[in-house]
Amino acid sequence: MTSSKIELPGEVKTDADAAALMASLQLMPSPVPNADIKYTKIFINNEWQDSVSGKTFPVYNPASGEQICEVQEAEKADVDKAVQAARLAFTLGSVWRRMDASERGRLLAKLADLVERDSAYLATIESMDSGKPFLPTLFVDLQGTIKTLRYYAGYADKIHGTSIPMDGDYLTFTRHEPIGVCGQIIPWNFPLMMTAWKLGPALACGNTVVMKPAEQTPLTCLYIGSLVKEAGFPPGVVNILPGFGPTAGAAIASHMGIDKVAFTGSTEVGKLIQEAAGKSNLKRVTLELGGKNPNIIFADADLDLAVEQAHQGVFFNAGQCCTAGSRIFVEEPIYEEFVRRSVERAKRRTVGSPFDPTTEQGPQISQEQQSRVLEFIQSGISEGARLECGGKALGLKGFFIEPTVFSNVKDDMRIAKEEIFGPVQQIMKFKTIDEVIERANNTEYGLVAAVFTSDITKAMTISTAMQAGTVWINCFNALSTQCPFGGYKMSGNGRELGDCGLKEYSEVKTITIKISAKNS
Ligand code: ADP
Repeated sequence: MTSSKIELPGEVKTDADAAALMASLQLMPSPVPNADIKYTKIFINNEWQDSVSGKTFPVYNPASGEQICEVQEAEKADVDKAVQAARLAFTLGSVWRRMDASERGRLLAKLADLVERDSAYLATIESMDSGKPFLPTLFVDLQGTIKTLRYYAGYADKIHGTSIPMDGDYLTFTRHEPIGVCGQIIPWNFPLMMTAWKLGPALACGNTVVMKPAEQTPLTCLYIGSLVKEAGFPPGVVNILPGFGPTAGAAIASHMGIDKVAFTGSTEVGKLIQEAAGKSNLKRVTLELGGKNPNIIFADADLDLAVEQAHQGVFFNAGQCCTAGSRIFVEEPIYEEFVRRSVERAKRRTVGSPFDPTTEQGPQISQEQQSRVLEFIQSGISEGARLECGGKALGLKGFFIEPTVFSNVKDDMRIAKEEIFGPVQQIMKFKTIDEVIERANNTEYGLVAAVFTSDITKAMTISTAMQAGTVWINCFNALSTQCPFGGYKMSGNGRELGDCGLKEYSEVKTITIKISAKNS
């Protein structure tokens, strides 16, 4: 074995042992021991309901492959029920429509406080359900969730239009109104954070929501349903339906009673969502899709920083990030040294139980994803890239993969073109700035890009030339609630987070009043 310490694992044999070890250290936050799964039903109208069909589906722990629980399976009939509830909550004169905007903000702030109160529990079940290491889940995912809810809570009563000096004897102003019922379909790689990214702006603007978490990871999103109710949101404002994409997800995308759909997931499914929206009622569509993101390292970069950031940029969350910087272009004079240091760092990466406090990398989400990533690695080998380390599955159970580094990667190889969504780093060589700009942009994706250099001119040349929604200079994955996030090209439509996120959840109405004579 080249990398890591996963003898799954030596001294720590089970997640329970690891959780006990972490609790015994006492110095750092610890997972909730023997955390119960409290909510496994469909959340409609602030009530927990069984599925219309009576079907359930199993939810697994990817670190062990064992089943955690069964969850009620929503399908089209359940989506219909949820849409009815959400429409009723949105009718003119409803409690939600008549509520002061500041009160909407207070409810969202309360929700943030409740998530904060229960953050150790939420991080524990998020780790169990998704395989994310507990400590990063607590410090990154939970913080991101809480901060996003608070940020949009503050915005609720600051969403306003303008008065406009239109030609003629008129007085004109705009109102930013909620769109209506918003379908929200989210993925498994950041279940809680994606819940907050979607709920925060939708509720701040006064919409109602029908949300579908990913079938692999419904548990924390369902728990958020209980907190929505506890916070005091009126029935029907938030509805949560665990279920599968082609059934529940497709029913949301094509529903005539849904006014907007927001989706985060694969580009392939994003196309289906947009198509379904077009074929049904032309509902508004925002999409946050895949990425095959360039990370450009110039010879004048701080090499220690660049190696570590490039490592984290691709291996964070076991590589299961749409932002993964998986195409690394390194300037020729430092190429060999960059590869050497990157391989050395990847070999030191600790892989193991999500509840072991020293773990940097947990399992992939499922056996299916593990097999898919291993198949990509095989394609890299057979297309002639040099496998520097890793390349294999790890452990006897669970869906772990060794941190893997490829050098001598060519732009036309599959591993350089397609989104792998796994712990696999591709390192390419470049000679000139013009060449690297062209190669970096030569992709159907355009989510993020990064550049490492000590020369501000090069940094600005690259950052203005990149066809990407976000460019990082001498940093990677520096995401924050205040900053708009989204893609160029086939990485998506629209932006989430920041004030841009609000625009995607409101309609602008122009109201014009005839007056007898205007004055400047
Ligand atoms: P991944 O391939 O990473 O699992 P997907 O794009 O398939 O990503 O899934 C993201 C979300 O989209 C999940 O909630 C999934 O259930 C949902 N989904 C999958 N297929 C469809 C579909 N045909 N229509 C609507 N939603 C879908």
